[in-house]
Amino acid sequence: MSFDYDLIIIGSGPAGFSCAMQSSKFDKKVLVIEANTDHLGGTWINTGTVPSKALREAAKTIHRYQAQFGNEKGQRPFVKFRMEDLLQYQKSILESKNKKVREDLIKNEVDTISGFGRLIDENSVEVSLTDDSKKIFTADKILISTGSSPKPPSKNLNNGSEILNYESILNLTHIPRRLVVIGGGINAFEYATIFSSLGTRVTILNDQDDYLPYLDHEIKDQLHQSIERKQITIFNSVKVKKIQNNDLRTCTEVLFKVAGQDRLQVIETEHVLYFGGYQPNTIDIGLEKVGVETTKEGFIKVSKNYKTKSDSIYAAGDVIGFPTLASVSFVQGRLAACDMFGIPAQELPADIPYGIYTIPEIAGIGITEQDAEKMDIDVTIGRAFYKNITQADLAHIDEGLLKLVFSSENYKLLGVHIIGEGATDLIHLGQSVMSFGGDIRYFIQHVLNYPSYTEAYRIAAFNGVNRVHKAGVKYRNILEN
Ligand SMILES: Cc1cc2nc3c(=O)[nH]c(=O)nc-3n(C[C@H](O)[C@H](O)[C@H](O)COP(=O)(O)OP(=O)(O)OC[C@H]3O[C@@H](n4cnc5c(N)ncnc54)[C@H](O)[C@@H]3O)c2cc1C
Repeated sequence: MSFDYDLIIIGSGPAGFSCAMQSSKFDKKVLVIEANTDHLGGTWINTGTVPSKALREAAKTIHRYQAQFGNEKGQRPFVKFRMEDLLQYQKSILESKNKKVREDLIKNEVDTISGFGRLIDENSVEVSLTDDSKKIFTADKILISTGSSPKPPSKNLNNGSEILNYESILNLTHIPRRLVVIGGGINAFEYATIFSSLGTRVTILNDQDDYLPYLDHEIKDQLHQSIERKQITIFNSVKVKKIQNNDLRTCTEVLFKVAGQDRLQVIETEHVLYFGGYQPNTIDIGLEKVGVETTKEGFIKVSKNYKTKSDSIYAAGDVIGFPTLASVSFVQGRLAACDMFGIPAQELPADIPYGIYTIPEIAGIGITEQDAEKMDIDVTIGRAFYKNITQADLAHIDEGLLKLVFSSENYKLLGVHIIGEGATDLIHLGQSVMSFGGDIRYFIQHVLNYPSYTEAYRIAAFNGVNRVHKAGVKYRNILEN
């Protein structure tokens, strides 16, 4: 049977993009359908990953400048810097990324069409075009990579005031003096630290009894101290009751209760930023027509090779649920392409690093000290505090910690947890050593650039070796074993 294409991809985020690029390298004829009529690149480039990181980069630069040179009169950054300039900086980055994605697809001879894609059978997709006409395309394989969208707050919470989400916050016209962030996940903390670095007084209302509970406990302590220094207030176990305008005081009020307390508390703020989780973009895309199964939250069920119940239909990225990261979506899209066209590929490794782009940033891979305790594994910890790293001194940075978790018996590296400048890059050295089954002596035996943040690995390794052997034991024995 002949089809228009070898592969049709619905959605041009990281999962769709990487699947298209990989398939084109397999000499396949590919069509990408994208509902956003202005831009390719999905949440990744247009509303999520890249915009938040661009804003963060600008906030970090300002924060560092203020810390080193600018804060003589105690002026907050919003006095000197304008949101307009920050967003202009961000816009220029988005434009160049959008251009790059389009050029990469063109260079690899991937066709694109603007419109809403809907499955009509196992090999056909109907596209609703902007002029209300429809076109049908057929393909041997189809990838659903339609991503996810922010869950809105419940209607009875909102009493007519504007509640921002990660898309609408990109339209702010000035740096707010006060911001309430509702949510306790990664993105809530990222945006909280971005705005506090710009001088905004931030309050986080978290409905859980703790935040980022999976972090290593010392990394969490460091984060907590940093948050206190930034004067960010966190309320845990919160139930938000109402969000309303107070016209007299020209502010927005957030009314909330903390579990176990009767008192209704009120915070006055300029803006409210809401993170209520994500919902998959699976509505009205014809899943029922082809018998693709979903979870009760609507995420598409797939095999370990990203295949749905139908042999010709695959799904990857946020639309299949956890971990809903661009980093993982890129790999999923590529692996789906390999499976579709019978190219052998390794599965996604069990150890996936995470990166949290707070200021300072956090990254981790493998087990934490707490995990080791629970699993009854005899581990030793090697620590390096940034205040002992020359590169951090040079950059005027004194907050940060790199922790190595390794087997006390044979030094095998089992986990790395970092908070501090460069953490999301640094983690990959630990990841490489771990994936080759290496041990912490790697960091002692190899030359690491100096000055560099990587020096933290060497310091932490020495610290760890010292702890295993306590004082007085010769390193020679250790290094030769
Ligand atoms: C604020 C924020 C910050 C983030 N930061 C990070 C980070 O630092 N690191 C990280 O790894 N991840 C981050 N993420 C997560 C990351 O953005 C997502 O995991 C990733 O974009 C998901 O990729 P995807 O390909 O599944 O879908 P998306 O990027 O969401 O793209 C899906 C595309 O499909 C299109 N589409 C939907 N339905 C249809 C249809 N029927 N027809 C045609 N097109 C359709 C949409 O218009 C969209 O363009 C962040 C997310 C947010 C919200």
